[in-house]
Amino acid sequence: MKKDINWGELGFAYMPTDYRFVSNYKDGAWDEGALITDPNVVINECAGVLQYAQTCFEGLKAYTTEDGHIVCFRPDLNAQRMEDSAKRLEMPVYPQDKFIEAVKKVVLANEDFVPPYGSGATLYIRPYMYGSNAVIGVKPATEYQFRILVTPVGPYFKGGVRPLTLRISDFDRAAPRGTGHIKGGLNYAMSLHAIVDAHNQGYDENVYLDAGSRTYIEETGGANILFVTKDNKVITPKSDSILPSITRRSLMVVAKEYLGLETEERKIALDEIGDFAECGLCGTAAVISPVGKIVDHGKEICFPAGMEKMGPVTQKLYDTLTGIQMGRIPAPEGWICTIK
Ligand SMILES: *Cc1c(COP(=O)(O)O)cnc(C)c1O
Repeated sequence: MKKDINWGELGFAYMPTDYRFVSNYKDGAWDEGALITDPNVVINECAGVLQYAQTCFEGLKAYTTEDGHIVCFRPDLNAQRMEDSAKRLEMPVYPQDKFIEAVKKVVLANEDFVPPYGSGATLYIRPYMYGSNAVIGVKPATEYQFRILVTPVGPYFKGGVRPLTLRISDFDRAAPRGTGHIKGGLNYAMSLHAIVDAHNQGYDENVYLDAGSRTYIEETGGANILFVTKDNKVITPKSDSILPSITRRSLMVVAKEYLGLETEERKIALDEIGDFAECGLCGTAAVISPVGKIVDHGKEICFPAGMEKMGPVTQKLYDTLTGIQMGRIPAPEGWICTIK
């Protein structure tokens, strides 16, 4: 039976559920893994994750579809990305097939927490991995825990979409040839100061420029960025230091294959964004958040289509992708993973 939760009132916050999936790595091998009920982690005070931030994570969602199935969206891409993150941080890879199996298991075990269709809420799934044994000299841990927690979350924009105001950040997010392309906790730790400062100054998010030349748009702290040109072309920045968002990659396919729009991934200079008609941030949490305005040191760059609500192309992208996720629109082969 579904839990007695006011689904419509949920925010984006952690709520412990009944089960989490845990697998431990020791002596060069992962154990079988199991569903457990304890939400707390007990590790050594000198664990690699605590001393040297050896940790990476993923984020995806489970949805109840219109016809009552529970599905998740492209978990194979999360499994691949976690493999890439683990390798860059010298962590053992949790096998991709077992990753997907574990996602299914933990969602099924917490089925009563999967929000019903039409509630606007979803079950957020957070796989992560960390170095768990003691290391004091700087080196990779030899023991790891892979864990997946799930938590029901509300619609990102409660009470309707509100276009965001961003600022061009004076901080850099990721170095050329650094770790910007992996989903490591380290990229978030160093973004916290910039985001708190942005909020204090009245901005919703930071737009980071490429750290090498500070000329090109990269992304925000936790979402990729896309633009719509005045002739309805959907473009997104190309850079090796951007986190490859699954939402963004999917939206580019939707733009091309479902909406018949031209798409392009290329370097996008800060200088040219004033020419664009729409701007949006993309990620699992909100799918697309419209951007109304980007402020570059006092100079306001407004996107005329998105100041009051979503621009028309952003809206179509949003409706189509969420339609695919909720089972109202046929999905491309392999995009929907049915859990139940
Ligand atoms: C997770 C993340 C995103 C969004 O990726 P999705 O796969 O679409 O959820 C974008 N940028 C950064 C820095 C991220 O960590």
